[in-house]
Amino acid sequence: MAKTAKKDTVQSNAQTHSFNAEISKVLKLVIHSLYTNKDIFLRELVSNASDACEKLRYTAITSPELLDGETDLKIRLTTDKAANTLTVTDSGIGMDEADLVNHLGTIAKSGTEEFFSALTGDSKKDASLIGQFGVGFYSAFMVAEKVTVITRKAGSDNAFIWESAGEGEFTIAEAPSDTPRGTSITLHLRKGEERYTDRHALAHIVNTYSDHISFPIEYQGEGDDAAEVINEGMALWTRPKADITEEQYKEFYHHVGHTADKPFLTLHNQVEGKLSYTNLLFVPSVRPFDLFHPDRRRRVKLYVKRVFITDENVDIIPHNLRFLRGIIDSDDLPLNISRETLQANPLLTEIRNSITKRVLTELGRKGKQDPEAFAKFWTNFGPVLKEGLCDAVYNKEPLLEVCRFVSTATEGSELTSLDDYISRMKPDQQHIYYLTGDRVDALRKSPQIEGFVKSGVEVILLHDHVDDFWVTVATQYKGKQLRSVLNSGEELADLKGKKPEDSQEKKDEAPKADMDALVASLKKVYGDAVKDVRATEKLTESPVCLAVDEGMMSMRMERFLVEHKQLPGSSARILEINPTHPVIAGMAKKLAAGADESAIEDTAFLLLDQARIIEGEELQDPNAFTRRLNALLKNAI
Ligand code: ADP
Ligand code: MG
Repeated sequence: MAKTAKKDTVQSNAQTHSFNAEISKVLKLVIHSLYTNKDIFLRELVSNASDACEKLRYTAITSPELLDGETDLKIRLTTDKAANTLTVTDSGIGMDEADLVNHLGTIAKSGTEEFFSALTGDSKKDASLIGQFGVGFYSAFMVAEKVTVITRKAGSDNAFIWESAGEGEFTIAEAPSDTPRGTSITLHLRKGEERYTDRHALAHIVNTYSDHISFPIEYQGEGDDAAEVINEGMALWTRPKADITEEQYKEFYHHVGHTADKPFLTLHNQVEGKLSYTNLLFVPSVRPFDLFHPDRRRRVKLYVKRVFITDENVDIIPHNLRFLRGIIDSDDLPLNISRETLQANPLLTEIRNSITKRVLTELGRKGKQDPEAFAKFWTNFGPVLKEGLCDAVYNKEPLLEVCRFVSTATEGSELTSLDDYISRMKPDQQHIYYLTGDRVDALRKSPQIEGFVKSGVEVILLHDHVDDFWVTVATQYKGKQLRSVLNSGEELADLKGKKPEDSQEKKDEAPKADMDALVASLKKVYGDAVKDVRATEKLTESPVCLAVDEGMMSMRMERFLVEHKQLPGSSARILEINPTHPVIAGMAKKLAAGADESAIEDTAFLLLDQARIIEGEELQDPNAFTRRLNALLKNAI
């Protein structure tokens, strides 16, 4: 283990570097306002020391010479009361000069820029934001006025001293070549933080936050002859579930997840049989800031027989469960597997499928047990989870079972499941109906669902971006077809049943022959502007709406693709008209009384534009629209 090297003076060959702007911000927050609980700095340093030991243990499987006689991987805390210092030493992988600059001088995480632009300057809000981000190493400056890092990377002859007072700059100098492998971090404690030189205080913090660390953590005071081990030293997931407290799970989650929230769900399973593996996975209760960042790091670590292998580039968790954090420890994969060949190993797929099933089952259970808490989960991760529905190979039924939706049978943002939808279906209803759009409130008022609502047929209202995509792939649930209301007008007529001949609606309606004539005339008037015109039962309040043919992509999807230049332009729409609406009935009557098509032209185009506006479509000729509207207004006034 490293002797605590002399570190009070920066050596003459030191080079001064500046922290990047993000770190300077983090440091300010850390030092001045971040945590009321300063103890957590030790958790962060021990966590990094443990990561460093894990990295070396993995690398040494194929390159045992890197251990260089020092095979003990461990962490040691040493204190010096007189100097008011605490040193955390590990015999792990260590850092070379570039590592020091890159890892202790910049924040190189994906999404950093977006994250920092989200900081408000309000320290309370920022503290909770940064809690998700994880400041790790820099939390040392909460209690230290100066931090000295002495380190030598495994396999390298050169050692370095990094030093900083946490104020915009740090220095790097060469360290003596007899510096042991690994890293030793000395905190020159601030006045008032003397307690961190006390054995009992340190042991207490280690037991509280770092008991799950699987390497021995030793303590040695300045006069002590020998070090004593102060942690359990056993990987948490290998212990029986009954012996693990909620607090311990939470601390482990903070360690692997680099996060500060309380897990929404903890899944700890020791699976034996054809496949043998242990998973200890967590669903966060807050949405990670980088969830939609394309190159965000994966947060599930793969272990093989307790040895950390990787947390990068391995598809052990499907993409739509990427919010999961934690570990998977396989007994079946070979220990000396390289990260490169891992991806091709069929066992990996089996483990992934098994885990996916387990996670969905657990989420399903939670959804039934505690709908309120589940709704929060759904707000955080629903859109991500639904990405799996777009995936052709994904088993969609268990996933759809977990999905929650807003519908015409729920109020506000209250959610329902498809199972509940099915239990409310009308006796002769065959399908599950949905409508996609940008906002729930607009969807609730959409003309497209008027007839459904009036007939008591429930419609699922889909408002996430991903919805337009998955509805084209996941078209069934428990034997029921998912159908867009955009092309379901005819089925609605069947569901409504026969209307009594003398109902008010029937009385307002123009005779069928007149309506057919109107449809024919409208087609002529519109020409290429529409693909078709047809009467519908779908509408009750509105005169018109746009529709698409069965099997065609939704209008919203088409707009999205046009916007992203995936389609040259949008296709012509179908215009559906409401025979019971006074404007429509009036037009039919006018034609029946002998008027020619020019008499209905302005009204016809105003109606078409109106349908476009409601659907969120662009008007093809806004000038013509305002001219027609103004002519109408002039008459009205
Ligand atoms: P994180 O642990 O989330 O990556 P930290 O701020 O805690 O962020 O640490 C930043 C980086 O510094 C680590 O990812 C690692 O590369 C490096 N590092 C910190 N402590 C050590 C250590 N004891 N040994 C080796 N590398 C370390
Ligand atoms: Mg860390």
